[in-house]
Amino acid sequence: MTDYRLDVQGISKSFGGVKAIEDFSFQVPAHDIVGIIGPNGAGKSTCFNLLTGVYPLDTGKILLDGKDISGLPQYEITKSGIARTFQNIRLFHGLNVLENIMTAADPYSTYGLWDVFTFSDKKKQRETEVRELSRKYLEIVGLKGYEEYKPESLAYGLQRKLEIARALATNPKVLLLDEPAAGLNPSEVRDFIGLIKKLNSQFDFSIVIIEHRMEVIMELSSRIFVLNFGKLLASGTPAEIVANREVTEAYMGEEDEACLL
Ligand code: ADP
Ligand code: MG
Repeated sequence: MTDYRLDVQGISKSFGGVKAIEDFSFQVPAHDIVGIIGPNGAGKSTCFNLLTGVYPLDTGKILLDGKDISGLPQYEITKSGIARTFQNIRLFHGLNVLENIMTAADPYSTYGLWDVFTFSDKKKQRETEVRELSRKYLEIVGLKGYEEYKPESLAYGLQRKLEIARALATNPKVLLLDEPAAGLNPSEVRDFIGLIKKLNSQFDFSIVIIEHRMEVIMELSSRIFVLNFGKLLASGTPAEIVANREVTEAYMGEEDEACLL
C-alpha cells in the first residue's frame, strides 16, 4: 500500500542506446506541489511521457492513489486522473478558446457542425453544463472574455493559461506541468506563481512541475527531485537543493546556470 497520491517506483526508459530515464522513483503526497529539475536532456519530459502512457515503461510501476496505472492506454490514464500540459504548447487551432476547454471536459462529445443535425434534448442539456463548467475554468485562470478567440491569436502567456484550464477541465487528481513558465516575462512569471498557488488552495489535486525558472520551482515546491542523465541526483526541500554542490555542478555549462543560485 502507499499513502501517496502518486507513487512512482523505479521507472526506466531507453530510446535505442540512450537511457533517457533509469530507475527513477519519486513520491507526490496528496494536495502537494513537487518539483522536478535537471539540465536539458536529463529525462524530465520523458518522465511525464511515461506517467501519461505516451511511451510504455521498460521497468517500474506507477501508482495513483494506490492503484497501479502502469501500462494503461493514454485515455484511461487521463480518465483515472492524470492531466498534463506540454513543454511545447498544444492547443486545437480549429476550435475557439471555449471549445478547447469543452473538448477536454467532455472528450467523448463533439461540439461542432455535426451537432446541428444530431441535437437531442439530453445532448443539449449536457452541452449547457459543460459550457458553464468550461467558462468557470477559463475564469479561474484569468481568461474570462476570451471565449470566442482563436487560441493562436492569444499572447503566449495566455496560451499557457489556456493549456492549464484545459488540464483542469479533465478534473485531475494530479496535474503535470512541463516547463509552464518557459517564455514568460518576469511579470507573467509572478502572475503564474500566483495562479498555481490559487489552484492549490482551491482544488484538491497534487501538482508536479518541471521548470527551468528556479524562482518558480523554489517558491512553489515543497520537495524537489533532481534528474541528471536520467538518474536521480538528489532530492530534498528547496533549501536543501540550493545548498547541494552536486546539483549546482550538474548545471555548470547550462546557459541559465546562474539562476539556480
Ligand atoms: P528533458 O525534458 O529533461 O530536457 P527529455 O526527456 O526530453 O529531457 O530527453 C531525455 C533524453 O531522451 C534525451 O537524450 C532525448 O534526446 C531522448 N529522447 C526523448 N524522447 C525521445 C524519443 N521519442 N526518441 C528518441 N530519444 C528520445
Ligand atoms: Mg523537457
